[in-house]
Amino acid sequence: MRRPRRTEDLREYNAVLRLKDTEIRLTDTGLTDSDLKIALIFPNAYEVGIANLGFLKVYQLINSIEGVVCERFFYNKSFKKYYSLDTLRPIDEFNVMAFSVSFELDYPNIMEMLDVKKIPLRAVDRSSNHPLIMMGGPVTYFNIKPLWPIGDLFFHGDAENKLGSVVRTIRDAYNKNDNKEILLDRLATCENLSIPALNKENTRIEKFIPIDESPSVSPFISKKGAFGKRTLIEIGRGCLRNCAFCVAGHTRNPARFLSPEQFSGILNDQQQLGIHDVGLISATFTDHPRKAELLQLLEDRKMAFSVSSLRLDSLSQSLLNGLKRSGQQVITIAPEGSSQRVRNSLAKDLTEQDIISALEKIARSGFNGVKMYFIYGIEGEDENDFKDLLKILRETKRLGIDQISLSFNPLVPKPGTPLEGTAMQDIKRLKAKKKFIQKLLSGKTRTKFESLRKSVEQYRLANGDQNTLFELYRRK
Ligand code: SF4
Repeated sequence: MRRPRRTEDLREYNAVLRLKDTEIRLTDTGLTDSDLKIALIFPNAYEVGIANLGFLKVYQLINSIEGVVCERFFYNKSFKKYYSLDTLRPIDEFNVMAFSVSFELDYPNIMEMLDVKKIPLRAVDRSSNHPLIMMGGPVTYFNIKPLWPIGDLFFHGDAENKLGSVVRTIRDAYNKNDNKEILLDRLATCENLSIPALNKENTRIEKFIPIDESPSVSPFISKKGAFGKRTLIEIGRGCLRNCAFCVAGHTRNPARFLSPEQFSGILNDQQQLGIHDVGLISATFTDHPRKAELLQLLEDRKMAFSVSSLRLDSLSQSLLNGLKRSGQQVITIAPEGSSQRVRNSLAKDLTEQDIISALEKIARSGFNGVKMYFIYGIEGEDENDFKDLLKILRETKRLGIDQISLSFNPLVPKPGTPLEGTAMQDIKRLKAKKKFIQKLLSGKTRTKFESLRKSVEQYRLANGDQNTLFELYRRK
């Protein structure tokens, strides 16, 4: 790609080039100069997207299809041209814009990107001359109504399942110069696909495949990524638990796990590439039925590792020791409810003793830093529930853990969970609760509160209808 002449474009081009220079490509992703060009877009920052295995899996999968090239793009508020991370080709040269959507708060970013590229926001206002707008990712497992007027196609579920046949159908239609109407008709028979123009809504996601059949391993490492310079390996998908507020625990089941046999092969490949540090991705590492074998394989190879998430009631000393050996300073746990009553109402299935035992193990492994996540804004919760936080705090300090931070998120009820249909508490009550917690913990520990404005926006988008996104976007 030739460098742009306009100063503003050159600045953006150089910003993308700098990000590209932070990457090491570990495997050949099969980039060719094929006819059908798909811009795979992560509508959030590069740092988040490059650490998203689902996004990277789709990238690898599409690039394995003959006659199709897929390149990566990330949202940036200041970008106008949007140059690809792979070849620095501008996004205008692509036939399809495929958004991989993980968070409700990314919806406005999608609107902004379309606006910047002067692409009509509503599918009905676009013609065959516009790129086809496709959407997939975790949000399509529950409520896509807010995005419904915007997307031409919605792919639901795991990419490994049926995405290949969807992309091949699009490729064949483009090769025949079919217009958009004919293309959508051809796609009507594809599984796991919703097509608003045909009023075809697919609410049933077809079969989940075992992850051993198609393990996900990141094809890049980048020191800019949320996991730093580590290769990411998906060791589990879905969750065995059923916490009432959690979409992942209710929509991505049955839970599936990578076998130690596959894991061992992947680690061997990484070692051959000179990588000795891996990030293990799953809903919760500690629920892996063969986690001891995974840890042993890492130990045998003296490889460093981190885990994306763990359950405090199934922490093992060997896991904590391994994390310590890998250089981790702080352990993050999620008691979620401040008191037993609240934890029960969230179906968190954790006792106070579970929390204290976990903290004891953390201290025994030599960690002096712990970060804890809590949810507030639950119906029936009162000041006495919050006062239980003091007990957890006292126990943590008693064990010699002195770097403590507590993070608080308001409850955001979502569709597809047992809390579907429950209203989020109003801002006034949430503000009062936040103030009480801040006063209660003032001078005792560090606290962090998720923005209430953003949380309300998240709730509205998660539970919204076809007008919600347009209303919110117009107000920005
Ligand atoms: S353990 Fe974690 S991932 Fe699993 S259902 Fe509970 S909150 Fe969700």
